[in-house]
Amino acid sequence: MKNLKICTKCIQPNTRPGIFFNEDSVCGACLWEKEKKKIDWSERIVELNKIAHNAKQENAMYDCVIGVSGGKDSTKQAITARDTLGLRCLLVNYQPEDITKIGMDNIENLKQLGFDVISIRPNPKIMKKLVKFDFFERLNPVKATEFSLYSSAYIIAEKFHIPLVIQGENPGLTVGTSLTGVGKDADALKAYKLQTLSNGWKEYLQVEGVSEKDLFLFHYDVSKLINQNAKGIWLQYFLQEWSYRGNAEFSSKFGFKGRDNFRPEDIGTYVSFGALDSDIVPVNQMLKFIKFGFGFCMDHVCYDLRDGLIDKKKAIELVLKYDGKCEERYIEEFCNYVEISRDEFDKTCEKFRGAMWIQENSEYRNQIHDLLKEIYDKE
Ligand SMILES: [Zn+2]
Repeated sequence: MKNLKICTKCIQPNTRPGIFFNEDSVCGACLWEKEKKKIDWSERIVELNKIAHNAKQENAMYDCVIGVSGGKDSTKQAITARDTLGLRCLLVNYQPEDITKIGMDNIENLKQLGFDVISIRPNPKIMKKLVKFDFFERLNPVKATEFSLYSSAYIIAEKFHIPLVIQGENPGLTVGTSLTGVGKDADALKAYKLQTLSNGWKEYLQVEGVSEKDLFLFHYDVSKLINQNAKGIWLQYFLQEWSYRGNAEFSSKFGFKGRDNFRPEDIGTYVSFGALDSDIVPVNQMLKFIKFGFGFCMDHVCYDLRDGLIDKKKAIELVLKYDGKCEERYIEEFCNYVEISRDEFDKTCEKFRGAMWIQENSEYRNQIHDLLKEIYDKE
């Protein structure tokens, strides 16, 4: 594959859609890490307090809406908004189709911490059609979930006239796709521009048996929010302490739990606290590996490398061992859910196999892994 590059700071490949690499082959996420050191965080806290103060002046039923999945970031957002900023919060929980036991426990834990929660779940029959469409069209069965996950907080803010929407992480900053879509500022009203959502929900109108009214929970009207003078913020923008592991540690003090007793090869990563609420996620990460040559483990080692918790050798070892792995049970469950055969699943995967794979007899070799091995030998 031509122009295949690995970030010289972490080991992120340039096959991630929308990724930015500078002339020294440093990825956008590593550049953000560097930029973070120059930020005047006390100034940002002043700004955040002002936004919170203004939201309280509106005298709405709630000061803010927070979209929560029950994961590590949700607990951090909710506790920070209520206990640090003194906001009256309404949590909006988008419930995935196949919510896991641990996903349910975490969301229940969050409720028990003392919050009002609205749960949103789009029609499962429609959802199944969309998941199937996304699998066959782009090998990304969680795409529809993302539309609803992001939109639900904005929809509730508009309908309840709540002046502030608090989102957690701006994925543009953390994974380094900052030049696309949402930019690097605090404004989360622009979430609909995120790389993951940029195709637009209207694409689903071509799915048989799906009409515009079926898709009400999959988009929000930003102009109505602007007219209501509502604001949306990425909390990450304001907090110096915002990291993958840091948020998990923070949230675990409030009862959040990761997976215990898991085998890294079953979920394709060594980290216990990522994407806990749905078993489609490990399947989707494996599909990502087929399309782009990297999966869940790559994301996690890059976070840990940037935080200085592991070295490159260790990171590469982990990626070579776990990236793209997924337990057969999850794949079977997914095939049963969308009602396709395993053969149809495999054939669809092959249609999307990325250019970084070289076929050798009946096997495929990943050129990203070839590059990683070279780096490993030089370290
Ligand atoms: Zn990097």
